[in-house]
Amino acid sequence: MTVSRITALETIDIRFPTSTTLDGSDAMNPDPDYSAAYVIVKTDAADGIDGHAFVFTIGRGNDVQVSAIEALAGHLVGRELEPLLATMGATWRDLVGDSQLRWLGPEKGVMHMAIGAVVNALWDIKAKRAGLPLWQLLSTMSPEEIVELVDFRYLTNALAPEEALEILRAAEPGRAERAHELLANGYPGYTTSPGWLGYSDAKLEALVRQALADGFTQIKLKVGADLDDDIRRFRKARAVVGPDFPIAVDANQRWEVDEAIAWVSALSEFGPTWVEEPTSPDDILGHAAIARAIAPIRVATGEHAQNRVVFKQLLQADAISIMQIDAVRVGGVNENVANLLLAAKFGIPVCPHAGGVGLCEAVQHMSMFDFVAVSGTRDGRLIEYVDHLHEHFVVPTEIRGGSFVAPTAPGTGMEMKADSRRAYTFEGELHHVA
Ligand SMILES: [Mg+2]
Repeated sequence: MTVSRITALETIDIRFPTSTTLDGSDAMNPDPDYSAAYVIVKTDAADGIDGHAFVFTIGRGNDVQVSAIEALAGHLVGRELEPLLATMGATWRDLVGDSQLRWLGPEKGVMHMAIGAVVNALWDIKAKRAGLPLWQLLSTMSPEEIVELVDFRYLTNALAPEEALEILRAAEPGRAERAHELLANGYPGYTTSPGWLGYSDAKLEALVRQALADGFTQIKLKVGADLDDDIRRFRKARAVVGPDFPIAVDANQRWEVDEAIAWVSALSEFGPTWVEEPTSPDDILGHAAIARAIAPIRVATGEHAQNRVVFKQLLQADAISIMQIDAVRVGGVNENVANLLLAAKFGIPVCPHAGGVGLCEAVQHMSMFDFVAVSGTRDGRLIEYVDHLHEHFVVPTEIRGGSFVAPTAPGTGMEMKADSRRAYTFEGELHHVA
């Protein structure tokens, strides 16, 4: 086997001036500048393949996230690449297990997301070397190999490795058929594009109409800043789509527990299909109390769930009916494999969080892998779609008839175009590129 080495972790602070148009505005985040703390894992391999990944942030602090990624250089630069790629579970445990860096979490926040970025960049190399998109690479691994990716530490009272193996083995016979189906028909999506709080009512209605015309089967509205505004906006959206069309609402952590229950009750006449992030993402018992009080309206959360242990508890406490994994919040592909297995064990659908910068490009691979090799179903599952910034990616998300087209290009989908990386590199001020 030819041996190659990691030669550098190149980082870039990339920021888009999205606050000028209020794209992405919600009850907690009124003026985000969508950003990426970007990493390129460079190697001396003859194939010239680098690994690309990022952490999504919304502006200030992106430099802090970049620094956290750089703190991992000592772990990786100079290391032989092939052994790291051959045992990605061990590689994950090695990075997460650094006892001094671990103190900064443990397994949460800026340092954990930095590890996730580096892990995802290694997966990008592994998938490109295999000539496969990530979803397909994962779907060609045996149940035993997939289980090896997961750190079961702190999970075994909810999911033991043997149970994970059973789930994966049960899905094994239909893999080829489902991959074929996926390539033919894609994976359903829903759109949040109409719902940003900073948009006028006229823009809201126009974008809801557009969502229908584009073939989406669900939309999502941001709520939580002002109840009268929420009622007015929900009524307008409902009038456009009719009585039965699913409309989710997202409070982005705005409420106290009792406030969430009262607010959702006030919106219940419009039939929200789920209520997302009603309160603090750390408040598992609070989510459970809300879920009990507003049933049958469902509670969804996860885009700020910092690791698999939080997801485990949300599931154990019957606090969520929808699990919303995020490609870059937790420790990368490996930890999301754990999250998918937890969801399968508890029979809860995964509807990933996306939007931002490159989150659709990245997370679709996890849902597609889930369909082919884990849960084996797309029923009740949708990937979030937001129509922003896709043009900056080498393999941009493609939507057809409201569904994500399964990517066939090798890699994780996280590689941003070199021109875009250059144009939006942050050097103390935002670049407004026409
Ligand atoms: Mg959300």
